[in-house]
Amino acid sequence: MSKQRIAVMPGDGIGPEITDATLSILEAAGFEADWVFVEGGLNAFEKGLDPLPKATIDTIREIGVALKGPTTTPSGGGHSSANVALRKALDLFANVRPAKTLPGLKGPFADKPVDIIIVRENTEDLYAGHEFMPNPDLALGMKVISRHGCSRLIKYGLEMARNQQRKRVTAVHKANIMKMTDGMFLEEFYKAAKDYPELKCDDIIVDNCCMQLVTRPEQFDVFVTENLYGDIVSDLCAGLVGGLGLAPGANIGVDCAVFEAVHGSAPDIAGKGIANPTALLMSATMMLHHLGHHEMANNISSSVLRVCGDGKCLTVDLGGKASTTEYKVEVIKHVKG
Ligand code: NAD
Repeated sequence: MSKQRIAVMPGDGIGPEITDATLSILEAAGFEADWVFVEGGLNAFEKGLDPLPKATIDTIREIGVALKGPTTTPSGGGHSSANVALRKALDLFANVRPAKTLPGLKGPFADKPVDIIIVRENTEDLYAGHEFMPNPDLALGMKVISRHGCSRLIKYGLEMARNQQRKRVTAVHKANIMKMTDGMFLEEFYKAAKDYPELKCDDIIVDNCCMQLVTRPEQFDVFVTENLYGDIVSDLCAGLVGGLGLAPGANIGVDCAVFEAVHGSAPDIAGKGIANPTALLMSATMMLHHLGHHEMANNISSSVLRVCGDGKCLTVDLGGKASTTEYKVEVIKHVKG
């Protein structure tokens, strides 16, 4: 097999540790890649570079596929988010975040068969970056929702649901209050849904959605939603299935795709060698599917399922004692076995 070029941004905090583990597992599974390392995040900023250097955007655009570790963004002041900038620069309009119960894991929702895919709009909404202060005591933020933005995201979600033989697609919104912005999202949803008669298409208000997620999560299948609701609901769903260490994600555009975990740079555990690399690893399996390497992706996913199901080599976030390296070695054993 010829070598596939993949842009890799290790990022900040636990990013380099989990990236290293993930690349080793991909290689052990037989993925022959030419890893092209790119810079981004706080580490770039501290070197005097832009948090998202132009060279990084150009390289990812040219290669078309990237695996990305989390990047640190200070709250309040400080540099702007490399993530938001990357999604906007490459027009990565759909953020796909699956949340699925893994066997053998303990937790308050372990008995619920959760299998939800969140398809979140990734470039608009309150994340569009239009904030201003007309005076020192008033801060305003603009919620940007375009018909084009809603329509392409919704169609992507419905098409994905059809291709994966899912049964139900639910639009998550707050159109009872935000009648124009969320109203438009809902209008576009039901317009597009007419072309997918095999799917049960319905909608839910975001606050009710959160309540139902913690009472009866098994009822949901696929969510399509705007940027802010998608960000919050996907962390909630990650919590339902064992925590952020297990939640993968993909940022999909027309010409580029960037695969990254839902979680952040976890500064509280960075450098301790205890981070769980599963979320980034499962993001990498989404990348393998995207590239057509389905068998390799399935081999890695089933190895992760076996290691988690076995329960003997779990990382600290899952109640185990294994280090990142011990977990990596265990997954590699299954991948090769
Ligand atoms: P976080 O996701 O980094 O951490 C939340 C909690 O989950 C922490 O206790 C952390 O230790 C734990 N955790 C997260 N990932 C883990 C893993 N793989 N293994 C074990 N435990 C894990 O969220 P935060 O603390 O709110 O954010 C830290 C930084 O990350 C912030 O600067 C934020 O802006 C950034 N962030 C980046 C991304 C991204 O790059 N895509 C996403 C979210 C947050």
